[in-house]
Amino acid sequence: MSDCIFCKIIAGEIPSKKIFEDDEMLAFHDITPQAPVHFLLIPRKHIRSIMELKKADADLLGRLFFKAQELAKELGCGEKGARFVINCKTDGGQTVDHLHIHILGGRSLGWPPG
Ligand code: AMP
Ligand code: ZN
Repeated sequence: MSDCIFCKIIAGEIPSKKIFEDDEMLAFHDITPQAPVHFLLIPRKHIRSIMELKKADADLLGRLFFKAQELAKELGCGEKGARFVINCKTDGGQTVDHLHIHILGGRSLGWPPG
C-alpha cells in the first residue's frame, strides 16, 4: 500500500530502529515508546486490521505471536512479562492501518485501559 507508513518502513523509505526481520515480518522500536520496552511487530503483508484477517492468515498470526514472545524474552521481559496488544479501528485506538502487535514491558502496566 503506497500511502501506508508501515509499508514504507518495510520498503526502507522511512527509517526505523529495526530489531528483527525475515521474509514475512519486521519488528522495530515504537517511535513514541510508552514503556521502557515498546516495539511493534508487523507482517510484511498489508493487512489493514485484525477485522480484515482471513482464515489463510491464521498461521502467519501464530508465527507473529511466537516471534513476539521470542523478542520480548530477548529484550528482557521473559521473567516479569509484557503486554501484547493489537488495537483495532476507531474504538480500539488504531492509528496506523497496517496490522501490528505492540509489545510493551519493562514496567508494571495499568489495567483497564482508559
Ligand atoms: P496504533 O495506535 O495501535 O495504530 O499504533 C501505532 C503506533 O505506531 C504508535 O504507537 C506510534 O507511536 C507508532 N508509530 C507511528 N509511526 C511510527 C514510525 N515511523 N516508527 C515507529 N513507530 C511509529
Ligand atoms: Zn501497510
